[in-house]
Amino acid sequence: MAKKKFKSESKRLLDLMINSIYTHKEIFLRELISNASDALDKLYYLSLKDENIVFDRENFYIRLTPDKEARTLTICDRGIGMDQQELEQNLGTIAKSGSLAFKSENETTEDVDIIGQFGVGFYSAFMVADKVTVKSRKFGSDDAFCWYSEGADGYEIEPCTMENPGTEITLHLKEDSEEENYGEFLEEFKLRGLIRKYSDYIKYPIKMMVTKQRPKETEDKDAEPVFESYQEDDTLNSMVPIWRKNRSELSDEDYQNFYRDNFYDFEKPLKVIHTGVDGAVSYKALLFIPAQPPYDYFTKEFKRGLKLYTNGVLIMDKCEDLLPDYFGFVRGLVDSADLSLNISREILQHDRQLKTIAANLKKKIKNELLSMQKNSREEYEKFYDAFKRPLKFGMYANYGAEKEFLQDLVMFHSSREGKYVTLKEYIERMPEGQNSIYYAAGETDELIARLPQVEAAVDKGFEVLYFTEDVDEFVIKMLSKYADKEFKSVSAEDLSADDEVVKAATEVNKDLLGFIKESLGDKVADVKLSNVLKSHPVAISNQGEISLEMERVLNSMPGADGVKAQRVLEFNMEHKAFEQLKQMFESDKEKCKKFASLLFDCAMLTEGMKIEDPVAFTANLCDLQG
Ligand code: ADP
Repeated sequence: MAKKKFKSESKRLLDLMINSIYTHKEIFLRELISNASDALDKLYYLSLKDENIVFDRENFYIRLTPDKEARTLTICDRGIGMDQQELEQNLGTIAKSGSLAFKSENETTEDVDIIGQFGVGFYSAFMVADKVTVKSRKFGSDDAFCWYSEGADGYEIEPCTMENPGTEITLHLKEDSEEENYGEFLEEFKLRGLIRKYSDYIKYPIKMMVTKQRPKETEDKDAEPVFESYQEDDTLNSMVPIWRKNRSELSDEDYQNFYRDNFYDFEKPLKVIHTGVDGAVSYKALLFIPAQPPYDYFTKEFKRGLKLYTNGVLIMDKCEDLLPDYFGFVRGLVDSADLSLNISREILQHDRQLKTIAANLKKKIKNELLSMQKNSREEYEKFYDAFKRPLKFGMYANYGAEKEFLQDLVMFHSSREGKYVTLKEYIERMPEGQNSIYYAAGETDELIARLPQVEAAVDKGFEVLYFTEDVDEFVIKMLSKYADKEFKSVSAEDLSADDEVVKAATEVNKDLLGFIKESLGDKVADVKLSNVLKSHPVAISNQGEISLEMERVLNSMPGADGVKAQRVLEFNMEHKAFEQLKQMFESDKEKCKKFASLLFDCAMLTEGMKIEDPVAFTANLCDLQG
């Protein structure tokens, strides 16, 4: 029989496939098994419509036969089969040119792995085989045909015999080279692994004869056991995916085992979300919130994403588009039959269905977290300790696009108790007359609690949120309000501004205050009096948008160019230090200047900041001793 040429597009695709370096040659098996499964589906469907066709469950399986001597791997199914014309049409043409268009438009993007993402089916066989034989007998016909090809040159078809309807594809594997080991596709271990990875949930059994060991029977009970090998038919796939089962059929342990086996985390997940939607877009999702971030979570190498299945076949191991960055810690999978995975259609990443699923999941995850926050607070706090940073960054990123979506998930410690409080809880327990949400930033809870302004605010009956993470203040600036209440830093808030006593004292001491401001120069934007500082002689607050803590954070970033908060030096008018200052102003202005400078440095130290000139600080201290 004369050799026929492939239709030109098929030839180009074949060339492309054979000559390109694909990272995932192994996916040929997934493709051929998916085709076999489709062929069984089609026959099953026929049997539903036609009562003359007996659906014989015994025969509904797919068989793998590796033959090391012949260096062949055969994939066989008893599905619908193909007649001569179908063999020609299906295996001799690729009618759609989407893949070619896609590849040529993206010629420069080297890592575009078309096959890995879309599946081009049968032709992927040529990535690992130099000769491919397809024997097929259409269901209902006695004739069988054999299709044979050695790659891009073309193919031959001739009649053959087959005992049963179905299809048998035999791949003659390429010779091994330095870079590629094709022979491994004949190893039981490798084949098992591939089936488990890509085709575990194909609904028909995938069978293979395997070699097993058993102890030889013996009369002598005391003899050392001797093992013999024997051949046995084994089913390589587990068939029913756990996420397709009903929640009621599954125990906590089932979920945990699945999580451990698939995501290699030996710690119990904090939460399992098993959900599904049947509607315009149908899908099932099984998500896990881990107890701890994966070891590489905070590195650049970390890739977020969910496994993506369509009809039980793994399409992508980490589909990024299913999860927003701030929920990147979530692990799990989505299975949907509705995805347009066909190579000729738009690329998967831009799939509208995918976007709908991602939007649903995002809401679902948030709601589950909120219910955990409400109903199992301890667990939520554990979660929050592990993952607060991504949530906060999520509020800050993209100009705060998601700040409101995430605002109820964040919590802070506060002056009230050493526990987390949500913004909602803060508002709910706010005393009457308080109109803002107060916060203070610093390195630790203890240091913040001892800040003069915090003590003053607490004295007034206000609860103060403690910001101990770099991002906190930036996040809150982004949010700016919660439930119509503005956030205010206690360091930027003059709690004694309206106090008549302070106003009067300020008037009386205006020369002194002016002198100090001038002598401190550009270190301060203002100098004020206060009567809420209790035991502290001085405190530093700030004017404007940038706090001392933000100044510290911003200046620790690479490329920072000396951001500066506008400092306000506050004197405790009831403290003896202020009395001394007044006396010095009358008797010795130079001494007064040194003392003011010393007090400013002390206030800086109290705030956890560095002093600019430690040498001057020490000199001032010694000079004033006399
Ligand atoms: P796709 O599966 O994406 O349509 P393939 O190149 O994998 O593309 O297969 C082309 C066609 O060949 C299939 O649509 C199917 O009709 C037919 N085919 C492939 N494998 C089998 C098989 N094992 N049994 C019956 N038909 C098959």
